[in-house]
Amino acid sequence: MRLQLSEEDAAFQQQMREFFTTKVPADLRERWAAGGEPAADDIRLAQKTLNDAGLAVPHWPTEWGGQDWSQLQRHIYLQEMQAASVPPPLAFNANMVGPVIATFGSQEQKERFLPGTASLDIWWCQGFSEPNAGSDLASLRTSAVLEGDEWVVNGQKTWTTLGQHADWIFALVRTEPDAPKKQMGISFLLIDMKTPGITVRPIQLIDGGHEVNEVFFDNVRVPADQLVGERGQGWTIAKFLLGNERVGVAPVGSIKRKLADAKAYAAATNSGEGTLLDEPLVAARLAELESQVAALELTVLRVAGNSKEGKPDPASSILKLRGSQLQQDVLEFIVDIAGPASLEWASTSDSDGRDSTDLAAWTGHATPTYLNFRKASIYGGSNEVQRSIISSGILGLKG
Ligand SMILES: Cc1cc2nc3c(=O)[nH]c(=O)nc-3n(C[C@H](O)[C@H](O)[C@H](O)COP(=O)(O)OP(=O)(O)OC[C@H]3O[C@@H](n4cnc5c(N)ncnc54)[C@H](O)[C@@H]3O)c2cc1C
Repeated sequence: MRLQLSEEDAAFQQQMREFFTTKVPADLRERWAAGGEPAADDIRLAQKTLNDAGLAVPHWPTEWGGQDWSQLQRHIYLQEMQAASVPPPLAFNANMVGPVIATFGSQEQKERFLPGTASLDIWWCQGFSEPNAGSDLASLRTSAVLEGDEWVVNGQKTWTTLGQHADWIFALVRTEPDAPKKQMGISFLLIDMKTPGITVRPIQLIDGGHEVNEVFFDNVRVPADQLVGERGQGWTIAKFLLGNERVGVAPVGSIKRKLADAKAYAAATNSGEGTLLDEPLVAARLAELESQVAALELTVLRVAGNSKEGKPDPASSILKLRGSQLQQDVLEFIVDIAGPASLEWASTSDSDGRDSTDLAAWTGHATPTYLNFRKASIYGGSNEVQRSIISSGILGLKG
């Protein structure tokens, strides 16, 4: 096992670091680092900047803008991007629908959708989950019935992240209600969000933000040529997509940055004669988190290094599990350092987003960010489901 970067990979790391810290505007990176609800325009500008430099979709086929990188290089690219607080390319575009269209789409679909998907001229959202069909996704009920050369779609999706900004939605729909197994009756459909009959309704979150939505389809007519792959092949496509979704799920770069912030906040917070950083319990908790992040980083490197032919390693479930837990632990630590000041969060910003109290801005973000990231153990496959995958798929235990 080799846990040191080769000369070539170290040079690549330097090249990535330089690009992210000099070519992506500093004010945009500062806003992203500060947290809070991301601005759609910042996400657009960041992806355009990356795409213009050939860095938005490195894992796609080279014909469609990909780079011939190793898994390790892709890992380095992601970590450097996170360390520099660059908004990552929109996952729905770069990691989900793009690879699906490149792999299963017709030539016409590739030419029509892939360039705009890489540049974010088309903003995609993911229409998989429904009420009663989340972990048990194959139970989905949204139907699509072929009438002439159009599919007529009826039903509801939920938890549709950033659907309020989306131009298009990729949806799993039931096209074969009589199929012998529920997995066999599903197809993968691309739907323009401007089509009559679509309603997007916001879901208000505990941090006060609006990140997810319900999407309703009422007799929505979709041209037949917007079905990807074969009719009834949607489950195979969904499994391919979800496998990609878990690649790069352990945001080590972001966690390290947040932990470094936590250390700085503790050092700047008075306590007794010194600062919070001098408190033995705070220092011990910090040391434990730092060593756990170091262990996660080594595990990520090992998984990235072992990945074969660009295929996701089943160990990515471990990364999803530990990554989301550690991310939440670090955010909880920041709330604890902020102490009672973190309870001011509802009133720290005026309508211009400026700090309207004497408190430091980070204390105002501590609690909403902590609350927001409770989501990390649910999305991308809940942690309970990841544990089942680890026990059966990796440890060979039978339930
Ligand atoms: C912030 C956020 C954003 C999301 N964005 C999107 C999106 O853009 N598009 C989209 O399609 N979906 C999205 N989702 C949906 C997400 O994929 C589902 O919430 C997730 O798959 C869990 O499904 P569920 O909510 O139906 O919970 P359920 O499946 O009802 O689970 C409830 C609880 O039971 C546990 N559980 C369920 N089955 C098992 C099992 N077999 N073994 C052990 N425990 C089990 C779960 O782990 C969980 O704790 C998002 C979710 C969140 C929270």
